[in-house]
Amino acid sequence: AIEVRNLHKSFGSNEVLKGIDFHVDQGEVVCVIGPSGSGKSTLLRCVNRLEEPTSGTVLVEGVDITHPDTDLDKVRTRIGMVFQQFNLFPHLNVLRNLTLAQRRAKKRGQEEASKVALKNLAKVGLEDRATAFPAQLSGGQQQRVAIARALSMDPDMMLFDEPTSALDPELVGDVLAVMRQLAEEGMTMMVVTHEMGFAREVGDRVVFMDGGVVVEQGRPEDVLGNPQHERTRAFLSKVL
Ligand code: ATP
Ligand code: MG
Repeated sequence: AIEVRNLHKSFGSNEVLKGIDFHVDQGEVVCVIGPSGSGKSTLLRCVNRLEEPTSGTVLVEGVDITHPDTDLDKVRTRIGMVFQQFNLFPHLNVLRNLTLAQRRAKKRGQEEASKVALKNLAKVGLEDRATAFPAQLSGGQQQRVAIARALSMDPDMMLFDEPTSALDPELVGDVLAVMRQLAEEGMTMMVVTHEMGFAREVGDRVVFMDGGVVVEQGRPEDVLGNPQHERTRAFLSKVL
């Protein structure tokens, strides 16, 4: 579970997050939507301290990750991250991409790491591509490899930042199907997305951000179907 309290983040004089209260409960799928520049990625990146919060509290499984005594590496192994850009190592085949971090951070031997990798490749429908190199795969396949890589660390939760935004439209569905399956298996998920269909069908809750604040949140059918705030209505009228 994730709990963010009164989170502020500034870059120089630019205050990007202006007091965010946000949470993702165990097993919950929370979709974060909002215009470009509203602070969605910054919020997500503060959750595993890829960005340093200016003030406020971020609890991951009850552990305050802003506390100086917190073992950040340990916390991060529990949080799977998937970005718009897949960030696979181009010189390593798929299997090696999946075993590398396991060996380093989880101290697994090659045999065990391979077993875990193949299990997760099967889960994303790519068990037959273990020896392929990233450049030999489509964008959608590369993103599914990135998801399998994150899952191979046995995370307690997964954070997605616009995982389908860089994909050709015909490849988006396969990636969303994998994410939907993860959600159905009970994975705790924070998903920054422009895919309103996914947010509506898979999200337990939708959070709308604008200008560094949470403007409104609630059940997808309420936020997307019957928004209470003018800013939400204005945004949805452009994307729906
Ligand atoms: P998008 O939908 O385009 O991805 P976003 O909601 O994810 O937008 P953020 O990436 O969180 O928005 O950016 C919010 C604001 O913070 C923007 O004004 C951006 O320019 C600024 N910002 C983000 N990262 C940095 C950084 N490393 N240094 C300076 N400013 C930054
Ligand atoms: Mg972003």
